[in-house]
Amino acid sequence: MSVAANIGHLVLARKYRPQKFGEVVEQQTAVRALANAISGDRVGSAYLFFGPRGVGKTTIARIVAKRVNCAKPLGEEPCDACESCVSILTGNSLDVMEIDAASHRGINHVRELRENVKFQPMNAKKKVYIIDEVHMLTSESFNALLKTLEEPPEHAMFILATTELNKIPETILSRCQVFNFRKVPLRVVQDHLRTLCKRENVEAADEALFWIARRGDGSVRDSLSFLEQAITYCNGPLDVERVKELIGAFPLELFERLTRALLSGDSESTELLEPVHEIFSSGGDLGRFIWEYLDFMRTLIHVQQGISDPEFLGIPGTDVKALKERFGPEDSARLTAIFDSLYSLLSRSLALRLRNSYETRMLIEIELLALRERLQRPSLSGVLRQLNHLSAAIHGGSDYSPEQEVQKQFLGTVVDPSEAPNLRSNK
Ligand SMILES: [Zn+2]
Repeated sequence: MSVAANIGHLVLARKYRPQKFGEVVEQQTAVRALANAISGDRVGSAYLFFGPRGVGKTTIARIVAKRVNCAKPLGEEPCDACESCVSILTGNSLDVMEIDAASHRGINHVRELRENVKFQPMNAKKKVYIIDEVHMLTSESFNALLKTLEEPPEHAMFILATTELNKIPETILSRCQVFNFRKVPLRVVQDHLRTLCKRENVEAADEALFWIARRGDGSVRDSLSFLEQAITYCNGPLDVERVKELIGAFPLELFERLTRALLSGDSESTELLEPVHEIFSSGGDLGRFIWEYLDFMRTLIHVQQGISDPEFLGIPGTDVKALKERFGPEDSARLTAIFDSLYSLLSRSLALRLRNSYETRMLIEIELLALRERLQRPSLSGVLRQLNHLSAAIHGGSDYSPEQEVQKQFLGTVVDPSEAPNLRSNK
């Protein structure tokens, strides 16, 4: 890290890019296995790193390249000071080659690589080829690469990285040791951001870091990039509202208001349409609004079911508590109906390829009004329940049950309520 810090101003993601195995956030399985293989002198000739973007595949590949070529390794770690380490750190090594397969897909590039691999390394023990986005290679290129992987020269090592394992031919896979890299848990990213903020003397509300980590979606790199933007945007302590504004998250309060208006039978149409109008007139992204409202409903349904893990729900602990307090026991069937309706709205808005936000706004408004009406209609289970009450009142406890009568007529059978959750009475 000392070398990197000297190269003038660096964005946080680069400045804090791990240079040692011990600095890597998460990915313990891969890190342990690789560090052990290297210190035990059991390094393989081909590895395949598979996982989502921004979780450390190339970073770890570089650490491996440094460590296998390091002149003065410190245990399992590279020294970051010898000639080889420094040349890799500064991107000047002639023996460590990083190839982006997305822009070098063709057979000519792989032929060139096959020629190059024959030569001994210049200043290192091993030539390391890091091939990023390897799934982008053409099938001809894969075949050529396979020939090299089948008989790799003693001095060569391949680290292939991909986000799409299913696009890698079985023949290539069988020649590689495969490591699965995972998304970094939100809590871990949040802790990491907190540590870096302390180092950078940036004051940050914990909840603000939660939203940044959530936006990063398991990628440390993306999270750091959002952190950097937030630091510039807030120009002072990182405050929750400003950060949410920056990452374009709609306030929870807006979804709460909308849900209440949908559920309440006596709400005015303006109450229902106001939030959509607010977003439309402030130039917000309505397509994203549908998606986030869907996400909110998922969270609300889970909270109603008693789930309270912020990481699972995707909202900070304080918001989980607030949702629990503000939404009493709701009819889960009605919440699910809202969710289903939003899901179909989302699918339709994608399928229709709407040309502008006005069209999206119309679609949302019409759907919300129709949905509110559907939600106020009595459900079959509600009607049956009322009939039951009436029957009990009229017959004074006789065995006659209109609920069973209706079920016989409409469904052809009598359903035991305990086995038919869909016919469960509304409360
Ligand atoms: Zn070194």
